[in-house]
Amino acid sequence: MHYDIVIVGGGAGGLELAARLGRKLGRRAGKERVLLIDRSSFHIWKPTLHEIAAGTLDAHQEGLSYSILGRSNHFSFMLGELDTFDPIAKRLTLKPILGENGRELAPERGVTFTWGVLAIGSGSNLFGTPGAEQAHLLERTEDAEAFHTRLLAAFMKASFSPEKIMSVAIVGGGATGVELSAELIEAHRELLGSLGGEQRFRLDIAVVEAAPRILGGLPEKISSQATVALERKGVRVHVGAKVLAVHADRLETSQGDIPADLIVWAAGVKAAPGNVGYGLETNRNNQFVVNDRLETSAPDVWALGDCAACPWPGEGAPEGRIVPARAQAAHQQASYLAKALVARMGQRRLDAPYVYKDFGSLVSLGENKGVGALMGGLGGPNFFVEGLVAKWAYISLHLDHHRAILGAPKTIVLALARLLQQRVAGRMKLH
Ligand SMILES: Cc1cc2nc3c(=O)[nH]c(=O)nc-3n(C[C@H](O)[C@H](O)[C@H](O)COP(=O)(O)OP(=O)(O)OC[C@H]3O[C@@H](n4cnc5c(N)ncnc54)[C@H](O)[C@@H]3O)c2cc1C
Repeated sequence: MHYDIVIVGGGAGGLELAARLGRKLGRRAGKERVLLIDRSSFHIWKPTLHEIAAGTLDAHQEGLSYSILGRSNHFSFMLGELDTFDPIAKRLTLKPILGENGRELAPERGVTFTWGVLAIGSGSNLFGTPGAEQAHLLERTEDAEAFHTRLLAAFMKASFSPEKIMSVAIVGGGATGVELSAELIEAHRELLGSLGGEQRFRLDIAVVEAAPRILGGLPEKISSQATVALERKGVRVHVGAKVLAVHADRLETSQGDIPADLIVWAAGVKAAPGNVGYGLETNRNNQFVVNDRLETSAPDVWALGDCAACPWPGEGAPEGRIVPARAQAAHQQASYLAKALVARMGQRRLDAPYVYKDFGSLVSLGENKGVGALMGGLGGPNFFVEGLVAKWAYISLHLDHHRAILGAPKTIVLALARLLQQRVAGRMKLH
């Protein structure tokens, strides 16, 4: 099978790219122009994984089928996990798909391409910590759903235990750890609303961060506001605490042991180890090294989003700084690459390189609460936002992503439908 453009990974960046290119090229010239490959059959916007984990978002309502998106955006979709990638022969293979009983549903498949894009995202960095693999990760929808199942079981256990307490330890005080702890508080509050007095229990959450403050990559004001907001909700924030080992029932840290019924690892970003075997230059975090046009070390192969290490120069910036692993970067890179690929197909090269624009950072602190900084135009000062304004700005990022793949009218209908669904069925998924 041969396609003009093959995009591997239909996440925040890859799916937007496929939709843009499909609408531009596929409508007239047919389905053999753009192929999207993903190991999952449906798309979930990754920044919502902590909500799925806490049960405040239902993956089966939130998920969008790649096949249906392909039909409306004029790209082809193939389900499968990348196995081999040969940038010189311009050929890749996908692993066989196995059914529940281990029987083969689809064999290994080979695809050739003229132009290839890798958009396969990243995972967590366990930093070689002993026992860390026992902790829950939030890398895929399956991880978030598995955590949710364990969470409901732990809620049930705590509810009928004599101690009436349940504890969660979250490793990493970045946006994921902070947002997850806020969402867990919401989930617990919703649950308590349905429990009789004698079944009520306390939720004890500890966020453990090795750096001197949480949200270290964001301005100090956001970090201190978030700390205050979390502590007000009863979350214990341990900063300057290095996790030395993860055990089944506790975290061993440089500040002592933290007992926990559930442990989540939400620290660090590292791309898949398999990335080093595709014949492309990679860095020590297994990201594909790209230039300021998102070109990898092989001709006609590009990489974008979390799996790419793209230079982010700037006045006073440290040497070798790269674009951060964020949805807004993946979104911008998809827009850039859509133009660059169309130019390349016309035997041209875009004049302008890709330049990351930091529009600020927003962190959700549960229902109707957020905190963040929005960048002023033309390098002006940051606007600090909090409360409902910050929460709405945060939600608008998600809507922006939906708009890029569904169009504005469908995004509005979907947003309204989900709002009504929550009104009728409740915010928390308890099954
Ligand atoms: C809980 C959480 C909260 C976050 N919150 C924010 C936030 O508020 N703001 C923000 O800017 N960023 C946030 N991020 C980061 C953001 O999600 C990522 O930066 C963004 O999703 C990167 O987009 P991407 O397209 O590079 O990769 P992803 O969105 O991760 O997509 C990668 C895709 O590739 C597929 N894939 C992976 N490997 C293979 C393979 N071998 N074969 C086939 N398919 C494969 C995956 O199934 C997936 O669909 C958050 C991340 C998490 C985990």
